[in-house]
Amino acid sequence: MKTPDTITTIERDGCLQSPWQQNLQAGNSPGKKIINALAVYDCAIVGAGISGLTAAILLQRSGKQTIVLEAHTVGFGTTGGTSAHINTFADTTYNEAEKVFGEGGAHLFADAINEGFNLIKQQIDQYKIDCDYEVKQGYLYAETDEEIEILEDIYKGALKVGIPVVYEQDVPTPVAYQKALRFDGQAQFHPLKYLKGLEEAYLSAGGTILENTLVEKVDNGDGVFSVVSAEQITRARSIIYATHMPPNINVFNFECAPYRSYVLAVKLKSGKYPDALIYDCQEPYHYVRAHQIDGEPLLLIGGLDHKTGHEDSEKAFDELEKYARKYYNVSSIKYRWSSQYYVPVDGLPYIGKMPFAQDSIYCATGYNGNGMMLGSIAGKMLCDLVTGKGSKYEKIFDPARIKPIDGFSEFVKENADVAYHFVADRFGIHETDSLKRLAAGAGKLIEVDGKKIATYRDEDGVIHAVSPVCTHAGCIVNWNGAERSWDCPCHGARYDIDGRVITGPATKGLSEISNSPGK
Ligand SMILES: Cc1cc2nc3c(=O)[nH]c(=O)nc-3n(C[C@H](O)[C@H](O)[C@H](O)COP(=O)(O)OP(=O)(O)OC[C@H]3O[C@@H](n4cnc5c(N)ncnc54)[C@H](O)[C@@H]3O)c2cc1C
Repeated sequence: MKTPDTITTIERDGCLQSPWQQNLQAGNSPGKKIINALAVYDCAIVGAGISGLTAAILLQRSGKQTIVLEAHTVGFGTTGGTSAHINTFADTTYNEAEKVFGEGGAHLFADAINEGFNLIKQQIDQYKIDCDYEVKQGYLYAETDEEIEILEDIYKGALKVGIPVVYEQDVPTPVAYQKALRFDGQAQFHPLKYLKGLEEAYLSAGGTILENTLVEKVDNGDGVFSVVSAEQITRARSIIYATHMPPNINVFNFECAPYRSYVLAVKLKSGKYPDALIYDCQEPYHYVRAHQIDGEPLLLIGGLDHKTGHEDSEKAFDELEKYARKYYNVSSIKYRWSSQYYVPVDGLPYIGKMPFAQDSIYCATGYNGNGMMLGSIAGKMLCDLVTGKGSKYEKIFDPARIKPIDGFSEFVKENADVAYHFVADRFGIHETDSLKRLAAGAGKLIEVDGKKIATYRDEDGVIHAVSPVCTHAGCIVNWNGAERSWDCPCHGARYDIDGRVITGPATKGLSEISNSPGK
């Protein structure tokens, strides 16, 4: 099924880059600057995705002196790998939110989604950001009786919180569906053009961005935090972890499950692309939308999510391609990429004060697949908390909340599964395969003299060997063949073939195997 000759996707550091990242490396790469070590910033923001840069611009413009520290480059994280739908509905339906948080909670969740949505539009207008923003209709369709019930649930829940939605007979999809909903006034954009706009506005407002700066820890002394990276120490009075998942061991390791999600951008023979955002209700789901990338119209087809490190990524891409070819007259696959999001245990994001940490340390995580709106509202909320204004969402998104999880049976499974790996990975699993059978471009966990090794053979035949023990919590990483990375099945940390951190919560690389086996 694969047609590598037509795929223009570039791999970088164990990540398949999205067209947004290939088409535009956000920012003018301020790169690594050595800053005045004595300067004390009002706030240090760790992570330069939509959450971090939204918080940064709002804080800087409110008169605070801020700095953004990014492990890689602006937009390297999930904001660079998103499919960039902007919606008034969310993966956690308003009915589900009501079941766990009551009617008031569901209303607040809808307010947050709407406010995040509007904030994006407001920033685009205010800073005149040219980011392909377009308003579209959104369609959600059901193919089975069971899915019709889900649709009805979504319909009732949305109306109850005041989100406009109607039943629709005519959906621009080749898939045979039974019933469908239409949400008017949805939107899409180019996420990295948007980030670039925020970045420029932030720098013009006097902000500082340090790229290639992996924050390893934050120490406290005399009311001023020291943000420690390999190169330097940055001092600040408050900290925002806008890292998608706060680094190192923390409570979110047990409250959020990491998922990988896949996207193809394909060219159609017909040259006719649906002018809408279209989603099915399958589990795992599919969605399609069109976007002009480098002047060429393409259809984005995405979905087939699975827990990070648990399934074969090549298979997911193959399945997605099969799906694309089944329903559309595909002339070529132009891009394919994958990225990561976090599913929260009780359905709502965690935004606010970092639990079990000192005051003035904040975080935002658990956005599910809705981080455009939730990352934006997180930026606004965290700005309001840092400046002491407070936020009406403070309680409902409180990261320290404890909520029953009855309605989220999937998550119970997730946690059982994390617990399994914590145990199973500490027992030896005997690997009989030998290095000799490792093909070029392939990675494998092998056992040599009773010691597990994560091995990868590159195109020149050289073996790259690292310890497979995730530096975050000691689970054993699995090979991700599609992206050539080592992915942790417990909390979603990811490493490149030489063990360097691609995605947290780990902040230290996999240790090199000094006694590396030869070719
Ligand atoms: C395939 C896919 C499609 C999606 N589609 C949609 C969609 O259509 N609509 C929607 O609303 N949401 C969508 N989402 C979700 C959304 O993209 C994310 O929730 C959102 O981008 C998260 O933004 P963020 O700024 O919080 O994190 P990120 O964009 O991941 O940014 C975090 C940054 O922090 C940096 N970082 C991490 N650790 C450290 C450290 N220790 N030191 C320094 N820097 C660090 C990372 O390098 C990264 O750049 C999708 C997600 C996926 C995976």
